[in-house]
Amino acid sequence: MNVLFAASEAVPFCKTGGLADVAGDLPKAILAQLPDKRKSRILRFLPKHSLIDPRKFALEKIPGVLKIPVGEKIEEGGVYVCKEGPLWTFFVENEKYFDRPALYGQAGKDFEDNDERFAFFSRAALELCKLIDFVPDIVHCHDWQTGLIPAYLKTVYATDAFFHRTASIFTIHNIAYQGNFHKQSLVLTGLGWSEFTQEKLEFFDQVSFLKAGLTYSDYVTTVSPGYAREIQTTERYGAGMEGILKLREKNLRGILNGIDENTWNPAKDSRIISKFSPRMKDFEWRKKSCKRELQKLCGLGVDNEAPLLSMVARVDPQKGFRMTLEILPKIFDEHPKVQAVILGSGAPDLEKELTALSERFKGRFCYEKGFNDPLAHKIYAGSDIFLMPSEFEPCGLGQMIAMKYGTIPVVTPTGGLLDTVTPKTQESSGGNGFICADISSAALHQTLWKALKTYEDRQEWRTLMKNAMTADFSWKRSAQEYLKLYENASQGKTRAD
Ligand code: ADP
Repeated sequence: MNVLFAASEAVPFCKTGGLADVAGDLPKAILAQLPDKRKSRILRFLPKHSLIDPRKFALEKIPGVLKIPVGEKIEEGGVYVCKEGPLWTFFVENEKYFDRPALYGQAGKDFEDNDERFAFFSRAALELCKLIDFVPDIVHCHDWQTGLIPAYLKTVYATDAFFHRTASIFTIHNIAYQGNFHKQSLVLTGLGWSEFTQEKLEFFDQVSFLKAGLTYSDYVTTVSPGYAREIQTTERYGAGMEGILKLREKNLRGILNGIDENTWNPAKDSRIISKFSPRMKDFEWRKKSCKRELQKLCGLGVDNEAPLLSMVARVDPQKGFRMTLEILPKIFDEHPKVQAVILGSGAPDLEKELTALSERFKGRFCYEKGFNDPLAHKIYAGSDIFLMPSEFEPCGLGQMIAMKYGTIPVVTPTGGLLDTVTPKTQESSGGNGFICADISSAALHQTLWKALKTYEDRQEWRTLMKNAMTADFSWKRSAQEYLKLYENASQGKTRAD
């Protein structure tokens, strides 16, 4: 089986959020599950963002130039490849589109030509298959940036013999990001006005790249069973796409994300000062070393016993920053020992409030603005309680990563958070975190208090930490589910012929 993975970001090359983790790790996990590796290939296609260091990844230029129609123009694309074991990643180059200081926008504003940039990339992905003579059985697309690929396969390339056996799968990583543009963008895409209907890619008189992915693909998946259910219900969760998703119910699957247990492993993590694992008798003592290092690094009072809360997230209303900003001052006043560290950047108004709070509670609260992977590792390892009070959460990786480092999550009852966190109950020694009763600052406040109370009981907390650290968040089971879906989609295509 030949699989093409098309995405706009992937670790280790570039990352703004969980999509990069998934596009980085899932192809490898699927490769590991393939029954006959010699008969299967997975290739990954990404834009050649100028933020990707060509030397670090030993990118090789390959001969040939892509000529891609964009509206009335023909835009050219160079091609590079990074050969990393059996997984080769191809990069589509076009300086005008991808030589930018960020991936999608800056200072909370999207780049104005994102429609053109990703229409170009989507069509280039299919042309690149031809250039390197790679006939995909499956094109697996991720988020709105690649939503036009399924549309191209069913229209521009519908009668192209090269793609006659190709089925498409579209994965929603976050339905709130839709790639909706003025309807004139349709001209740039090269798709006809006959596609501009409610059943296809028209969305409130705009062109929606996400909706294109939802309507033209053979299967739609999303990143947790909980989120798959939620997005079909109300506008709050479906962001206006709930109707179209309900129509696609039979071909919609929720497959839970995993995390890469090599990258996120406190026993091997070179970024933390003291490595630890649940098998070590003194793992709590070792984690405390990480805590002291983090406290020093963040200008917090060095204190083994101070409960240290943390967040590592895009600073976006989705992540529950409003509720967090409301309850943190209360918690600091009520509980004289509590400390907190938050790492992230995003919405300027929220960043400002976080900065003001860190000035008010100097020595107890540190807000670190920016994207900082080494610091993220230190926070996961050095803190005690990880806050993830999301308004909605497709899957969420932060809570799973935190658990691997023995940092206990406090989460809201939504999407993938419900699928990954097992609540601690009074009656049993099970559970690996705390789930709020509802999505409100009152519930968050109450649940955080419960967590802080439990933290005082060293034995109970140790059990929670062990449960969290030993939970299975590997990609293995999900990779098997994707593989089954690839087979179904591919057989469906053969049957249709
Ligand atoms: P989302 O995809 O909605 O941003 P997830 O929890 O699914 O949220 O994934 C977020 C990923 O990005 C995690 O790997 C997290 O550690 C990382 N991350 C988020 N913000 C930062 C940051 N400011 N610095 C470093 N890593 C970050």
